[in-house]
Amino acid sequence: MRVLVTGGAGYIGSHTTLALLEQGHEVLVVDDLSNSSPESLRRVGELAGREPGFVEANVRDEQALDAAFASFRPEAVIHFAGWKAVGESTQIPLTYYRENLGSTFTLLEAMGRHDCHTIVFSSSATVYGELSEPPFREDAPTGATNPYGRTKHMVEQVLADVSASDPELRVGVLRYFNPIGAHASGRIGEDPKGIPNNLLPFVAQVATGRREKLMVFGDDYPTPDGTGTRDYIHVVDLAAGHLAALDYLGSHDGHHVWNLGTGRPASVLEIVKAYQEASGVAIPYEVVARRPGDVASSFADPSLAEQELGWRAERSIADACADTFRWQSENPNGFAGA
Ligand code: UDP
Repeated sequence: MRVLVTGGAGYIGSHTTLALLEQGHEVLVVDDLSNSSPESLRRVGELAGREPGFVEANVRDEQALDAAFASFRPEAVIHFAGWKAVGESTQIPLTYYRENLGSTFTLLEAMGRHDCHTIVFSSSATVYGELSEPPFREDAPTGATNPYGRTKHMVEQVLADVSASDPELRVGVLRYFNPIGAHASGRIGEDPKGIPNNLLPFVAQVATGRREKLMVFGDDYPTPDGTGTRDYIHVVDLAAGHLAALDYLGSHDGHHVWNLGTGRPASVLEIVKAYQEASGVAIPYEVVARRPGDVASSFADPSLAEQELGWRAERSIADACADTFRWQSENPNGFAGA
């Protein structure tokens, strides 16, 4: 199948692009490289034995998108491109709304003009907020507590409305829990710019000496060890979930929502311990105040994806830590060192 992948040079996008190429699909990546490196795509090409196509453009660029659709004629789109830092989104909300909503509008309109009727969208478990208790099922109430989360929630609603208006459109909304890990080759992985916001990239940089110690945000949550618990899912499993969703949409109409998670919560201290074991390096940490906006616990009920897509997460946190450690130690400066 010909699949146009927006944001395909990024963390989840690059792992999914690789999985698509490995399964024999044709891929065209559209990415403006605002938070990613072309080196990731070069390495994806190396690992797959063939290069994905690449257009350097913002997804809101209608002309560039039209040209890409006209020449590549995609049969499906996977839409990863977007701004994703919660804290930053409270500082520059308009940028988040413009980019994350605008890119989706441009993309859906281009799909309409070019006879492309299948889209898989990168959503987030953040849409469950604190409206109900985990494990979250897809039919749990949704909302959001910050501009980033609201863009995900709004795009979900836009997709539902557009899908209701167009019986030909096939939509798969994937709600990711906490993606971690890297490709087992150590050639591609997460390469955050600046100080990492997320737990595992931060821990990984402490292990390589780039950061002094981890700040554990609170140990007085109502969880077994008092630190926050999340559903950490290996990025290669997550990538496989996109292929399963595309496969499903090949034979099913309509609008669908699936959680991609493991269903098993792990605490901050469990992640620290797993990373120490995988790396053989002690991770110094200090418990500090809770981070504003954090929930105590978030994890999936992943049973719908298993029933409908035949997909489940197979890799462990230990696998993810070992793969992240390999990626970090072989690429201490991420793709910039290449
Ligand atoms: N966390 C932490 N120190 C950090 C980064 C994160 O203690 O430097 C905790 C955070 O409070 C949460 C968990 O690790 O309980 C996962 O946080 P992350 O930002 O990776 O994901 P999210 O909050 O989006 O689920």
